[in-house]
Amino acid sequence: MSQTTGATPDVRLVLLGRQGAGKGTQAARLAEAYDVPHISTGDMLRVAVKEGTPLGRKAKEIMDAGHLVSDELMVGIVNERIHLPDAARGWLLDGFPRTVAQGEALEAITADLPLDLVVNLEVPEDVVLKRISERRVCSTCGAIYSLSSPPTNPWTCDVCGGRVVQRDDDTEEAVRKRLDAYTADTAPLLPFYGERKLLVEVDGEGSPDEVFARLRTAIDARVTARG
Ligand code: ADP
Repeated sequence: MSQTTGATPDVRLVLLGRQGAGKGTQAARLAEAYDVPHISTGDMLRVAVKEGTPLGRKAKEIMDAGHLVSDELMVGIVNERIHLPDAARGWLLDGFPRTVAQGEALEAITADLPLDLVVNLEVPEDVVLKRISERRVCSTCGAIYSLSSPPTNPWTCDVCGGRVVQRDDDTEEAVRKRLDAYTADTAPLLPFYGERKLLVEVDGEGSPDEVFARLRTAIDARVTARG
């Protein structure tokens, strides 16, 4: 398997976990630590919606209702993204795959440089419901805040100065639908990756720093063992 001589090894990762498990927060930090792009399909769709592109116009209603965008559309977007030059040394996928069909498609499009590891960030449902009700995001760059850790100036993003808001799909009804969709469509990816010996479970409760330290330990162990 290819390995660069740079400061960090190549790494190809998938982060799984329920809505509100902390994927977005941790993925941004991990991407920086391993120097690979953080590819969030949710963020990519939200940018498309904001810009009013044909993809965004198609996706908006589906997302606001808490439903999933079609596998075909998502696989196309991800396939393009992971083959851009900045992803040559690896990538961190957040929000994809979300169905077993997307998992199978990912295997096919990464046959040359396969996945190293799938981390399931485990957080109980009652905890994620509370986290999501408190979640706020930057409407420009997607940076994540919460009522308990707001930006320095209310409600202006510390990163880009954009407006910090509640996501349109973080209503109680849409959240419940997304959690149901997670159980029905995404949870089957756990045995799928378990059978392939790619799955590692990480406890997602605790402070962002504690969870980050657990993730680094799990990922480093796998990347080091790979050599
Ligand atoms: P969450 O994990 O809280 O649902 P995301 O930001 O990952 O948030 O996704 C927001 C919405 O974007 C999803 O509810 C869905 O409509 C759409 N979406 C994102 N990724 C995918 C995907 N891989 N397949 C289908 N739909 C997706």
